[in-house]
Amino acid sequence: MPSGRVHNLINLAAYAALAAGALAASRHDLIGVTPAQALTFTLGFMAGTFLLSPDLDLSEGRVDSKRRWGVLGFVWVPYGRLFSHRGLSHTWLLGPLTRLAYVAALLGLVAGLVRAAFPAWPWPALPEPVGLKFAAPLLLGYYLSQWLHLIADGVHPDHGVRHSLRKLRRR
Ligand SMILES: [Zn+2]
Repeated sequence: MPSGRVHNLINLAAYAALAAGALAASRHDLIGVTPAQALTFTLGFMAGTFLLSPDLDLSEGRVDSKRRWGVLGFVWVPYGRLFSHRGLSHTWLLGPLTRLAYVAALLGLVAGLVRAAFPAWPWPALPEPVGLKFAAPLLLGYYLSQWLHLIADGVHPDHGVRHSLRKLRRR
């Protein structure tokens, strides 16, 4: 199984190839990518590569993507306990979602605590839900970074299905 550093190199090489391809294709008017779309795609891809790697399921120990969170690395320890290595965390559709949901739950928890601690503060209303134009390239970049990790790990797209079937059969 590749190490964190090898995963990062694979992802960066794939990103470079993709960027070169997209640039060439848009020069020939084959595709139209706005700078904003390219930026949000890059944001999602890099966050998925460096901060939200599937190997966070190992973060009860030492793992590259946990180290990149710096002093905040400890927030991933419960995630590491919750998810067995290369289990649900390494599935193609649900796996990446578990990490997004985990971050959302953490942010919600922090926001709730801060609001409870300073109730008199004039908090601004919750931000508007982000538009699809922003979310689509962001999610695409994120998911692509995750899938590259899974391909490098040798995990097949039906991993989740087979995993749960095996569990069912064992019952
Ligand atoms: Zn992995």
